[in-house]
Amino acid sequence: MREFICTDCGHNVHTESDEPFNMPWSDGHRCRFREVKEGPPDPLKGFEEFHTGGGCMALQKDTVLGYIMITDSDGCDMPKAGQECTIGFYDNESNAIGYVRAPFDLVKGGAVRISH
Ligand SMILES: [Zn+2]
Repeated sequence: MREFICTDCGHNVHTESDEPFNMPWSDGHRCRFREVKEGPPDPLKGFEEFHTGGGCMALQKDTVLGYIMITDSDGCDMPKAGQECTIGFYDNESNAIGYVRAPFDLVKGGAVRISH
């Protein structure tokens, strides 16, 4: 099964054929379909910008056991492309469990997998 989506109206079609059936709508709009290809999952899915207090920012994601925060190498700002970042793991009482450092580009690219 292939999935196509109209780049103008967002209408999507699942079909076995190479081309989605494409009649104009009653208002004259004819969908311009492109195929939706499933990419790899976003390694930073679920992370959100979070103000950690004291003017510090981080990417944070809640987990079953607590939460994960990703900052720059100083631990007080958003991680930046081309730089090392700090990935901190915390329990539900905000106790630091541990941290690792890695180039943020490798985290973003999925080469460094983060789970908790
Ligand atoms: Zn359309």
